[in-house]
Amino acid sequence: MTLINENYLKLPGSYLFSQIAKKTAAFKEANPQAEVISLGIGDVSRPLVPAVVEAMHRAADEMGRAETFHGYGPEQGYAFLRQAIAQNDYVSCGIDLQADEIFVSDGAKSDVANFQEIFSSSCRIAIQNPVYPVYLDTNVMAGRTGSFVEGLFEGVEYLPCTAENNFVPALPKAKVDLVYLCSPNNPTGTALTYDDLKKWVDWAKANQAVILYDSAYEAFITQPNIVRSIYEIPGAKEVAVEFRSFSKTAGFTGTRCAYTMVPKQLMGYTRQGQAVALHGLWLRRQTTKFNGVPYIVQRGAEAVFSAEGQAQIKENISLYMQNAQVILQALKEAGLQAFGGVNAPYIWLKTPQGMDSWAFFDKLLTQAHIVGTPGVGFGSCGEGFFRLTAFNTPQLTQQAAARIAAMQF
Ligand SMILES: *Cc1c(COP(=O)(O)O)cnc(C)c1O
Repeated sequence: MTLINENYLKLPGSYLFSQIAKKTAAFKEANPQAEVISLGIGDVSRPLVPAVVEAMHRAADEMGRAETFHGYGPEQGYAFLRQAIAQNDYVSCGIDLQADEIFVSDGAKSDVANFQEIFSSSCRIAIQNPVYPVYLDTNVMAGRTGSFVEGLFEGVEYLPCTAENNFVPALPKAKVDLVYLCSPNNPTGTALTYDDLKKWVDWAKANQAVILYDSAYEAFITQPNIVRSIYEIPGAKEVAVEFRSFSKTAGFTGTRCAYTMVPKQLMGYTRQGQAVALHGLWLRRQTTKFNGVPYIVQRGAEAVFSAEGQAQIKENISLYMQNAQVILQALKEAGLQAFGGVNAPYIWLKTPQGMDSWAFFDKLLTQAHIVGTPGVGFGSCGEGFFRLTAFNTPQLTQQAAARIAAMQF
């Protein structure tokens, strides 16, 4: 009898997206003439930019010649890409981060999922509520939580992010070792200011805690007081890991390339209290379990930082952010309260008249033929909220917006 990891059984089924698909399919079948528009997609719609495609073509040609062929590369990424990231994302912003503190990977999802492995299973975690589900689910699998009771896992410090606290999580009351912060946040579209984040960095220092900072949407920030990197805060290199990705920034969702920053001065501790650099542990983990991102993809990612690449990706991002403005404006005209959409491609609306998230889903689908995502699917504090995304085409976003603006609530 081979025993399984029963922690997996604690996870509720991935009800959210299957239920959305089921309801949408049923509606389309009953209303074949309806033109259903999705503002629910969490994937980009713009193709890779020309600078990236050209770089990948050149790299593919190199792979086809014996003199320039590349087999296994360094697990942590090629130096050319790590240096481009250090220079363009950090040094040019006044942040002193070395190329060898950067680990290139096939996705921020895998990195935020895997990073917990290097910590003790006894660590207590804190997560925002609502938030990207990967942080919590991977800690459940690793056995860091109790059972799922009435929508919450026992043993987890949830940090409510609500309209009342402006979606800024309060510092935990209980003792916590690991904190996941996602800013700009998926799903709320809101982001932490310098002062908000400084409180967290100071708290982590005082409590010898580690912050796992997901800034996958950093490139969408438009306001100057919003932090792009946690390392803008003095002392953050001693307490924080930062995750970034080319997925949303440069349309790499299907191409796969991301990067994780593990500063060398960031420490964890043995039970005897001896400090151990997380950098060394993560290096060991990656070199043992991961064989690197394809050379062709890393050359494509490097091109994101070229002058043409930057101009081209910024055009796509601003197109998405114009979609966000169109959606925000429509919600305002419909008399709905909405958040986000300024520093992230997500809009988080408050459902009217105390309607629950799923009731709003049904109303939006049946009356406006628009699909979105019920907020409750991202955590219990998402109940009574609804997520719309700015990733559809401008044309379909405008059509959807006109339908929303005409709705009666
Ligand atoms: C999309 C997204 C990512 C990116 O994941 P990849 O694996 O790099 O595609 C990471 N974090 C959040 C919060 C996201 O929404």
